[in-house]
Amino acid sequence: MKEEVIKSYKVPVEAPRDLVEAYFEAKRRALREVLDHVTYSQTGKAHLRFKAVDRRRLRNKLLKDWRYSKHYIDSAINSVIGLVKGWIKLFNRGKARTEPRITRRTVYIKNTLFSYRDGVLKISVEPNRRYLEVDLREYAWIPKDFDRIGGLILAEGELIVTLKREVKPRRPRDWASFDVNLTNITALIDGKVVRYNLKQLYHVHRVYENKRRKIQKLSKHKPKTAKRLMEKYSRRERNRAKDFMHKLTTKIARELSRAKSGAILENLKNIKGKILHRSKDLNRRLSKWNARTFQSMLEYKLKWLGLPVKYVNPRNSSKTCPLCSGRMATYEGRLMKCEKCNLILDRDVVAILNLQMWGSGVTPNGDELPKVLSSGSDVSQSGRTSIKDYVR
Ligand SMILES: [Zn+2]
Repeated sequence: MKEEVIKSYKVPVEAPRDLVEAYFEAKRRALREVLDHVTYSQTGKAHLRFKAVDRRRLRNKLLKDWRYSKHYIDSAINSVIGLVKGWIKLFNRGKARTEPRITRRTVYIKNTLFSYRDGVLKISVEPNRRYLEVDLREYAWIPKDFDRIGGLILAEGELIVTLKREVKPRRPRDWASFDVNLTNITALIDGKVVRYNLKQLYHVHRVYENKRRKIQKLSKHKPKTAKRLMEKYSRRERNRAKDFMHKLTTKIARELSRAKSGAILENLKNIKGKILHRSKDLNRRLSKWNARTFQSMLEYKLKWLGLPVKYVNPRNSSKTCPLCSGRMATYEGRLMKCEKCNLILDRDVVAILNLQMWGSGVTPNGDELPKVLSSGSDVSQSGRTSIKDYVR
């Protein structure tokens, strides 16, 4: 059985401003019109009565003096109807306070509005005379192995391209597990512990944090300049950090593909309320960003390759002995010691061993773990260490 997987990419473009503005205006007018068709029952519930004839009338009205391709109007009406329907759902559950508004200048470009040939996207702006061409071959990170292009979203300065691919899910031969921290990721891949250094990424965040602190001082005297600089630096930081994560997750996805391995990741929902959510300091925030970004990137890259991803509740994953299930307590530094069997192990390694066992359904008493613990004793150049090196 095949599954459809989706990947989205941002490409910088010089968007036709007049189209973006006209589409924005059309959506606003459509919203006013559609909202006029919302009625309220005696119990205060909202309903939308927008019939085909209403739609046709609105379409004709918006098409007057519209010089761009007609399909933009259909797309504007569709997106407004979707917006209003979503709002009604919230409203009827008592969760919507104000009426919906159009605030973002984004244009949804459905597949009737563009063609794709030899790596080049040709987007119709005005029928048969004006096009926006985007050469996707210029962007090395965009995969070539897609089956079709879903939809496009044009915003000021960028185009979001959604690629689709039919994938045959592969049955994994093994499961890799990952523990993401502030300055490193510890992984168990093919029975070996691998550490990926995130210090470079951490450095990027720190550099920009310092810049932001300086700008904050400026904001008293020159608030506008400060705001502009703040946005600029935040964007740069995000881009550099994302670039780093993209390279790393691409590398790991390739490695897992070679090992025919699925991935077991920590379900962050389970720890959100406790540590991640309430924390305000920078390091906690960065750890959270690392984990979220790493997971979402790795997940879609693996799915693109037909490999599965599992999320496991990480509760006590670094405090449970992977050998005897006993309680582990802090020993020294990053080391943990089992109170029952005296096993001493790095806490990140404890975490990935447990995640791997819990996620793949192997019990701590099974014979899988000793095999893992004894497999390979070499330390290769690539920074791969066998578990043995972590066992004291
Ligand atoms: Zn133990």
